[in-house]
This record gives sequence, C-alpha cells and structure tokens, in this order.
Amino acid sequence: MIGTVFKAWVKNFINLFYPLSCLICKAALSPSSDKPLCEICWNKIEFSLPPFCRVCGKHLPARNQNYAFICRDCQARVYFFKKARSVCVYDGIIKECIHLFKYKSKLSLVKPLSKLMIDFAHKFLDMRNVELIIPVPLHSAKQRQRQFNQAKLLAGDLARAFSKELQANLLIKIKSGPAQVNLLRTERLKSVRGAFKVKDARRVENKNILLVDDVLTTGATANECARTLLDAGANRIDAFVLARGR
Ligand SMILES: [Zn+2]
Ligand SMILES: [Zn+2]
Repeated sequence: MIGTVFKAWVKNFINLFYPLSCLICKAALSPSSDKPLCEICWNKIEFSLPPFCRVCGKHLPARNQNYAFICRDCQARVYFFKKARSVCVYDGIIKECIHLFKYKSKLSLVKPLSKLMIDFAHKFLDMRNVELIIPVPLHSAKQRQRQFNQAKLLAGDLARAFSKELQANLLIKIKSGPAQVNLLRTERLKSVRGAFKVKDARRVENKNILLVDDVLTTGATANECARTLLDAGANRIDAFVLARGR
C-alpha cells in the first residue's frame, strides 16, 4: 500500500517537471496511465482476430471459417514450427510502438506490449503443454549495440505470467546477416540458414518449446530457429509474436 502511494507520488512529482505525453501523438497523459500512449492511439492497434490460418495464424476471411483451413501461403510452404500466432497486425500504431521500443529504447512499452501477448495467450493459446519459452536471439554484436533483446523482454513477462521456464541463452545467433527488412523471402531464407545454434542440446531434448519474437514477417527467422531446435532434439516448436506482416 505504502509502496503504491509512494510510486504514485514519485510519478506525480516527475510529472511536474517532465509532463508525460503520448509517445505517438504527444497528447498529455494522466499520471495514472499504465502505458506511454493515450487511449485514442492505443485503441487504434489492429489485433489479429480469429478465424486463423491453422499454421501461420493469419486472419482468414469469414467465408473460410473452417478449422482445417490453411492459407494459400502455408499450402505452398513447409515450416518447422507447428504453428505461429501473432497478437497484432504489423502496421500503424503497433509498428510505431515496436520501432520506438527496439530502436529508440522506449522500454516503458515493454509492460503494455507484453500484456497484449499475455492476454492473447490466455484467450487463444494452449499454454499447458509449453515446457520452455525461448526468445529469438540477437547476434551478440547487435545485442551489445542495442543493450537489450526485445524478444527476451517480451518472453520474460510471458514466462512469468504463465510460470514457465525461460531460457534466453540456449539458442544463440552465430551469424549476423544483412537486415532482414530489406530482403525478399527467398533471400531471407538463404541469409538465415545456419544462423542459429543450440548451446546445450540436452536441455531442449524432447521439449515442447514456445519461440517468442516481436515481429514475424516471412517466417524465415522463426523457421530457422525451429529447425535448429528440432535438429537439437526438441519435440515441438510453436512460434508466438507480437505482430506479423499482412
Ligand atoms: Zn496518442
Ligand atoms: Zn497460413
């Protein structure tokens, strides 16, 4: 109780000198706001809604409301993960939030963003069989430069919320390729090939693993992580991201 009062007091005090404003539209925020965005901006986030493609989790038009339905992209592709799910569509506000979080180190976004993942997982994921949560790793050079791994921060909150084991150092990135954003899918697949390594195979052996990342675009990175983990003896990999490309 005293802690809460004290925190509110500190927040009000700081607010006197540095008024809190929405990271997107700069509108003033109430000191009691639990996120660095105003409600108007926050409510513009576009969520992924069911029905989902059984494999990649992409929203399907209502006429395809068939559990067995697999979207056209997934019919032509083989993934090493069993399924992928994303909370939002990577566009608009969430895209801006992820950029602010990753490239501008706006770590005040971690809690509200991981809460979106936790809420989604409660609704749409079966977390009972998940034994291990592993964030998609950054190459050590990039992690040093950024000083944090956004996927690890999100995965950490998720693991705590579901009392799951988090392993952020088992899967490592050993090859840093060109920025994925600028590549086509085929180039992405090639550039991530062999980019990851499992440090201690015994610890993933026969495990059902939830792989966590902030963004899924073509699925090439998640796919390569999944392939690497299966090669090391894991039983099943599912991917869970905050946002995916349309
Ligand atoms: Zn705003
Ligand atoms: Zn699909």
